[in-house]
Order: sequence, then structure tokens, then C-alpha cells
Amino acid sequence: MGLVDIKARIRAAESAAERPEGSVTLIAVSKVQPDDRVEEVLRAGHRVFGENKVQEAAGKWPAFRESYENIDLHLIGPLQTNKARQAMQLAQSIHTLDRPKLATTIARLAQELGQCPDLFIQVNTGEEPQKAGVLPAESDAFIQDCRALDLPVVGLMCIPPVDEEPSMHFALLAKIAARNGLSGLSMGMSSDFEKAIAFGATHVRVGSAIFGERDYG
Ligand SMILES: *Cc1c(COP(=O)(O)O)cnc(C)c1O
Repeated sequence: MGLVDIKARIRAAESAAERPEGSVTLIAVSKVQPDDRVEEVLRAGHRVFGENKVQEAAGKWPAFRESYENIDLHLIGPLQTNKARQAMQLAQSIHTLDRPKLATTIARLAQELGQCPDLFIQVNTGEEPQKAGVLPAESDAFIQDCRALDLPVVGLMCIPPVDEEPSMHFALLAKIAARNGLSGLSMGMSSDFEKAIAFGATHVRVGSAIFGERDYG
């Protein structure tokens, strides 16, 4: 299992960046992985997991919660407004707040449910047309609008373009967060989490390096 190795690499990256030990949260991205691999990580004591689909999360995490306490589930995939209620009841954090309609829907549901997950705003740092997220130039205004709705925005999230060096995207996300007084930075995946930590990531989302390759077959 890759968990022990990845945790050691995170500690080393924290230390290399002269950041306190434990300042980076490892989100083990369990999407598509078979239950036995997920249970192995649960049995090893890890409790922070990420899923990118509400449906899939709803299908497996309520059962895991019956056997393991204090599971901290992060929703890291695109969220449709009609799934927002279910997402808010399942997850402790949502990383993909990316548009006004979703913000107003979550604000309304938070009133109704009397609770709201921690929220990260997704920024489309590469300005890719097919990718979710607010554009960098529109992010300050969107952050303000979310705060005006009393939403618990804790940070920003990005997924750099696959074919580009991620550093400039991590740096841009950190810059937008800093100028808006946001401390959370959800960035870095299996291939680049150490680099993300050097740029200030507080949450890294690591899947295949922990669980092995995903089998979509
Ligand atoms: C799947 C996924 C990850 C994890 O990807 P790996 O390359 O397997 O580490 C991270 N973030 C998001 C948003 C994902 O959908």
C-alpha cells in the first residue's frame, strides 16, 4: 500500500518547504477504487478521503461510516445544483464551488439544514474551456459574493492543465488566496503533490499513488 510512503513524502516536502509538520492534509482519493483497497487504508487509520461523484460517494461511505468513526469526506468533483443537498449531507468539505447558482443553492440549503460543509472555490487557473472553475480574473468578485452569502469559504482549489508544468498554476492559486485572506489551498495530485506543498498546499488530493491505478473497465 502506498499510504505510508506518501505520508513520508508529505512530511519530507513539508520539511523542505520549512513548513510545520502536519500542515498538509492528505486527502486519499478513493473514487473508482474497490472497497477492499479503501478498507485497507481505513484499517491503517487514515480517515480523510476524497470522492468526485456524489452518487458514488453515497453508495459507499454511509456503510464505511458504520464501521469507522470520524471519517472526513471531501467532495472534489463537479457538483450539479440538484445534487447539492445530498452532497452537503454526505461530505464535510466541498472543493468545487464554482458558480453563482451553486453558491445561492448551497446558501439556501445551509439555512434549511442548519449546517454547511467547508467550501473551497475552484479556480480554472489554466482558463481551459472544458474545465470547471471561476476564471482567475473573476475570482476576487466571486469570493466576495460567496462571503456576502455567509458561506464558509475556507480556501481555493485548482486542477492544472495536464500538459503544463503545474508550478505557475499553484503559484497563481496561492496568490489569489493570499490577497483574499484565504488560508486553504487544495492543490497537488499523485504526480505533483510535493511541488504543490512547496507552493503552500494545505490539502493534497492523492489517489493512484496510494491505491494503485484506477480500473475504469
Ligand atoms: C481523481 C482526482 C484526483 C487524484 O488523482 P491521482 O492522479 O490519482 O492522484 C485529484 N483531484 C481530483 C479533482 C480528482 O478528480
